[in-house]
Amino acid sequence: MQVRTRFAPSPTGYMHLGGLRTALYNYLYAKKMGGKFILRIEDTDQERFVEGATEVIYETLRGCGIDWDEGPDVGGDCGPYVQSDRKLMYMPYAKQLVESGHAYYCFCTKEELDERRAAAEAKGEVFKYDKHCLHLSKEEVQQKLDAGVPFVIRQNAPTTGESKYHDVVFGDISFPNDTLDDMILMKADGMPTYNFANVIDDHLMGITHVMRGMEYLSSTPKYNLLYDAFGWEAPEYIHLTTVMRDAKHKLSKRDGDAYYSDFIDKGYLKEALINYLALVGWNPGDEREFFTLEELIEAFDIHRLNNSPGIFDVDKLTWFNAEYIRRLPPEKYLEMVTPWFDQVLAGKGIDYPRLAQLMQERTEVFNRVPDMVRFLGELPEYEVDLYTHKKMKTNPEVAKASLELVKPVLEGIDHWTEQNLHDALMAAIAEAGLKNGAVLWPLRIAISGQASTPGGAIEIAWLLGKEETLRRLEDGLNRLTK
Ligand code: GLU
Repeated sequence: MQVRTRFAPSPTGYMHLGGLRTALYNYLYAKKMGGKFILRIEDTDQERFVEGATEVIYETLRGCGIDWDEGPDVGGDCGPYVQSDRKLMYMPYAKQLVESGHAYYCFCTKEELDERRAAAEAKGEVFKYDKHCLHLSKEEVQQKLDAGVPFVIRQNAPTTGESKYHDVVFGDISFPNDTLDDMILMKADGMPTYNFANVIDDHLMGITHVMRGMEYLSSTPKYNLLYDAFGWEAPEYIHLTTVMRDAKHKLSKRDGDAYYSDFIDKGYLKEALINYLALVGWNPGDEREFFTLEELIEAFDIHRLNNSPGIFDVDKLTWFNAEYIRRLPPEKYLEMVTPWFDQVLAGKGIDYPRLAQLMQERTEVFNRVPDMVRFLGELPEYEVDLYTHKKMKTNPEVAKASLELVKPVLEGIDHWTEQNLHDALMAAIAEAGLKNGAVLWPLRIAISGQASTPGGAIEIAWLLGKEETLRRLEDGLNRLTK
């Protein structure tokens, strides 16, 4: 049997990290098993239609290397792969279920249902459709259909006994049938509900393994009843736990940590995100942490999926990200960091390739870069206390003397290279019998205005150029003289 998995997102305009992880696991499993991964767009809820949302799905998945073998844009033998394009396929199946007594027409209006719901709630009961229309005679049904009365088709779920199934992650699951409601299969607008369409489509598309969020764990018995009613074999179920921020909180749109784009916009690398996401909810059974997509395919095993919620720890992701950034080829890093440099250094004449060399090791997430290099564009405000450093044996007084010492030295350098800066400064420091730190620390403070910088005094002076370095040095002397 060839394994066929699918990812079936509803086009909402965003890719939730939980959804992306579901897509990833489906992809990994299909590839691992030499099977096929199918993309199906579930857009039967027309009210939720969002322009451009399908493209977001395509771009995100493709960007992450999660390619589908069959899907809306690549075709396949089981198309169409967009549910709304399949619209006409569902009604005959629904009618078949009506014929066999597994479903029935329901003509109850919204008002009637609301009234009954309110009455149930007033009694402290949970409202469940009461099979009212199941009891209509064949003739009554036909009359209403002929008269064009709007209808839905509901599943006729059993009210006694138990429904059982096996889930790869959660084991044996059973639900008392009296908790199942007669869910709507076909809506009044002629569209199937998700609850119906997922069964029909998974069957027609030959899906062997259904991997999806655990919010569907409790509806699955109802889907199995449908498979049974048609005499079809149900797929294997693999329900995935929710991706959480911590033990109590889900990832949230409001906190900006729910969507793929939230992280990409902040400057996380998609490779790092995919690598980390794979580990939120699955483990390889050994100590390995770094995986390319190929290596994930190789290592993936559905029996190693966790049944406790996956905690998406942003600090851990950041750690992964920093590692991935460190491993980038320098040219690639330069290309990626340039727009972030531009935010604060555009037109300032700073040598980006050199700055990139100094920054690559220190970059955890790209959106932290502008704050780290802003001082090169403009000297920040700072207090003279910054010149005090115990280990470097400096204080404002020492600093002043040091800056006075280096000023003519720097002025005397004609050819402004890091080597020349180094040689000239070292010679002057040695001649004065001072410690390197007692001179280089104050110089760094004077030209950067901050205690922590990418590179030291020499690199920064070179990046700033002679004129700007001397201007800032002068500014430092003024502050120390006040
Ligand atoms: N369209 C459903 C969703 O986005 C898919 C659930 C499934 O995979 O069956 O949640």
